Amino acid sequence: MHTHETPATDHDRQRPAPVGRTADRYDGRGPRTPGSLQGTLGNTAVTRMITVSRMMTEDEFKQSSKRTGGKRNASEISKVDEALRAFYALPDAGEAARWYALRDIVRACEAYVSHKPEGGRRVAGVERLKGEAEGAQAELDAAAVFRGLLTEVDRMVTANEDPDMDVRLPAGEAQKASQKMSGPAFTTLVDGLIRDLGELRGNEGLPGETRAVIDELMAVVGLVTVKQYPRGGMPGMKLTSAADQDPAFTFNVDTQARGGTSFMLGHVAHELTHVAAHQAFGSSPVMELVRSGATDAQVTALAEERRDALAGLRRALGGGAGFSDFQQRMLEEKLVYGGAGGKLKKYADSFAAAGKITPEQQAQLIAWDAAAGPASGTLVEYDTVINQMLVYLHLWETDQNHPFYVELRAAAQVAFDRRSQARAATAQAAGNNL
Ligand SMILES: [Zn+2]
Repeated sequence: MHTHETPATDHDRQRPAPVGRTADRYDGRGPRTPGSLQGTLGNTAVTRMITVSRMMTEDEFKQSSKRTGGKRNASEISKVDEALRAFYALPDAGEAARWYALRDIVRACEAYVSHKPEGGRRVAGVERLKGEAEGAQAELDAAAVFRGLLTEVDRMVTANEDPDMDVRLPAGEAQKASQKMSGPAFTTLVDGLIRDLGELRGNEGLPGETRAVIDELMAVVGLVTVKQYPRGGMPGMKLTSAADQDPAFTFNVDTQARGGTSFMLGHVAHELTHVAAHQAFGSSPVMELVRSGATDAQVTALAEERRDALAGLRRALGGGAGFSDFQQRMLEEKLVYGGAGGKLKKYADSFAAAGKITPEQQAQLIAWDAAAGPASGTLVEYDTVINQMLVYLHLWETDQNHPFYVELRAAAQVAFDRRSQARAATAQAAGNNL
């Protein structure tokens, strides 16, 4: 079901966004106003040109930051000069490079001002430059910046570099860029990611288990009616409809894209798995990964089976042979997240306190949490992290005979079959009630 999706303007994240020639980016004079130019020409290249035309040049900056009546040779200012020079020296490197360069100007300005608490004429010039750089950064195409940063992180992951160790903090910058998008632009970006996940099915090398999972996830996309930057809450999927309404979910998207495209598509798969499982299992709004009506004994067995599967995956991962340090860390995090205990009771209590589940539902969930013991985390996050890792391994082009991949596919198939059987039973029960 894709009917609600709005087409993204550009979902080709493998290619940096086109940029204007360096010579076009600054003409240094002229009574341009952004509104009139955009109105006349109306394209993103013009927006970029205008953006940059507002920034002072290095020479202008040196003039504006001169000491009154004095020379301008203090070493503190040289870092600001360098940052500004670097910005103007940028090749046609795309929005992400421009974003970083403007951020560096802002930082250099802040560093300078913080060393000059006494103020002065030069400080005023530096403050002005900082304001201009911030203004220029705000006017970059945030979606293009975000995609540019993803492409940059993808390159690092492919080269077995560690994006977490990059001093430019690309994941944090991607998150900041995403905060600058309008609501519709953000939704368009997420719709593009969802479509990209669906299009993985066109890859010949996609394992059958992963293909089946993506089919299942694409079938529930229409239930996700809101896709947004998390507003005052945690990233994740939330049921927003009441019990007597058609199901509707809000996807609060995590844009701290540590692993680039693989991270984002893995995140989408994880969150859509919550929706698919909720529908299959007939779960409460807590979205427990337990079939409605299960007995405590069944829940104990289920949690133990999942715990053992995670332990088997942990063994197969071993010392991480076949994975980069970064990839190994991403997988280990998922294995821990899938098994962390106590979560179901915690959710049950907070959802009950918020009036989102009944006292009976709360009691049921607490009983299941106890029945699962230390493996209760698998009743909240298991199918989700399994499917997320399937997407990681495919996008990382991991050898399908790698022991970890073999085990993961087997675990994913078992979980998929369990959801399919539950879905069929739930549908049948609904039919009987008609
Ligand atoms: Zn989750």
